[in-house]
Amino acid sequence: MADIEKCYCRHCDAELEWSHKGSCPFCNKTGKKIVVEHTETIKIKENIRVVHQGERKKTDRKILLLMLSGMFGTGIIGYFIGGVIGLAFGIIVGGLSLAFSDKAIWKEKFKNTFESK
Ligand SMILES: [Zn+2]
Repeated sequence: MADIEKCYCRHCDAELEWSHKGSCPFCNKTGKKIVVEHTETIKIKENIRVVHQGERKKTDRKILLLMLSGMFGTGIIGYFIGGVIGLAFGIIVGGLSLAFSDKAIWKEKFKNTFESK
């Protein structure tokens, strides 16, 4: 913050001393004008932070393929075996598929943060 004050003749704009009194030495008229120049510097510091978060679906293709082949394979094998053994085989493979289902498709949480400096 700096102020500069100057004194001028109101009529001819000649710069005068602050202490000057009476008529202007250049135009011989009376009247002064005072000009104040004010300079200020303002510093602004700003930070921006963006957080991007959510859930995305993830798939393990190998386990998914194994589950799908198990599903169709059980049906085909069960058709040929038949009876109680075929039923037990179907239940066992079905149970294995159920146990691995969350390993084939699951949701993953993510969080990305961007911050300006
Ligand atoms: Zn003057």
